[in-house]
Amino acid sequence: MILVTGGAGFIGSNFVLDWVAQSDEAVLNVDKLSYAGNLRNLSALQGDERHVFVREDICDQDAIAALLNKYKPRAIVHFAAESHVDRSIRGPRDFINTNINGTFSLLEAARGYWSELPGQEQRDFRFLHVSTDEVYGSLSAGDASFTETTAYAPNSPYSASKAASDHLVRSYHHTYGLPTLTTNCSNNYGPYHFPEKLIPLIITNARAGKSLPIYGDGQQVRDWLYVGDHCAAIRCVLDKGMPGEVYNIGGWNEKANLDVVHILCDMLDRMDPKKSGSYRDQITFVTDRPGHDRRYAIDASKIERELGWRPVETFETGIERTVQWYLAHQDWVADVQSGDYLKWIETNYNQR
Ligand code: NAD
Repeated sequence: MILVTGGAGFIGSNFVLDWVAQSDEAVLNVDKLSYAGNLRNLSALQGDERHVFVREDICDQDAIAALLNKYKPRAIVHFAAESHVDRSIRGPRDFINTNINGTFSLLEAARGYWSELPGQEQRDFRFLHVSTDEVYGSLSAGDASFTETTAYAPNSPYSASKAASDHLVRSYHHTYGLPTLTTNCSNNYGPYHFPEKLIPLIITNARAGKSLPIYGDGQQVRDWLYVGDHCAAIRCVLDKGMPGEVYNIGGWNEKANLDVVHILCDMLDRMDPKKSGSYRDQITFVTDRPGHDRRYAIDASKIERELGWRPVETFETGIERTVQWYLAHQDWVADVQSGDYLKWIETNYNQR
């Protein structure tokens, strides 16, 4: 069995669905179900014994230690985090609590559990920490892409809290020998993405006839990776990664935000045309985010060279799959936006 934290969120739920589709090994999914956690992402696994869900906060070290001792996983894949930069600017405290203190508590629980494992199981154990390219700070046009040795320079409370968690993970390998792996990935997109992030926000606002807000001049550049490719990369690192190592994961798909929005509008014009005009007419430029990083770019050569992972989707194929998914899952979007799913969680998982 493996333990996944944050498996009801965007990437975590894609990972759990993918894992169960590809393996008979069970997943213990530990998630506190914040606003971003949605068990309906995992409804296909209802009744499947390979998925065990426990509503728990990673900050509760004793509770996590008890779960480790009860289920005896061979690995932890740590997704749980507060993940939205805008929210971190408005209220950083939750980011410090979950991303720093939560990762620390999880590491402590993992260290205690791992140190008691018998020889071979101890050597085979892995703690895989899922992190972001935002820890490396901002690039200018023409700067070389981030590599695993780029100096950390986080600029938002979100990226600073993730950077702190990366450093804690590193220290647990160097100090205690915990077999850790860290992955730093670029922007993901795909199914089950909470519609506060750029791509799902644009798709859902466009179809609802709302404005499509673009920060500043829209020329902020991000590298985009289809979430299924990220999940495959994590499985690959878990399988073949060297303990103590860091792997950058990216899609070689640098795009300016405004270009992404134009692509989405044009795709929607084709797949779900408006009665008149184009979705581009709904674009509105709004005041830029404070401290907005200008450009992120990932050099993913190490994972490609050493572990043989490569993204399958291009931006064009991945974005088309994503738009199709949102068009076919209007009920999911409506649930998330109405808050109905929060009520559903309270009724179905109110055991805490
Ligand atoms: P998300 O916000 O969609 O999901 C986070 C999940 O963690 C939710 O299910 C939430 O309920 C859970 N959670 C939050 N606090 C918790 C706590 N204290 N205890 C237990 N569970 C808790 O995030 P995401 O976009 O799926 O990102 C997952 C991970 O990947 C994060 O660590 C993030 O930093 C990293 N990452 C994300 C991206 C991206 O583009 N989304 C890119 C690179 C790295």
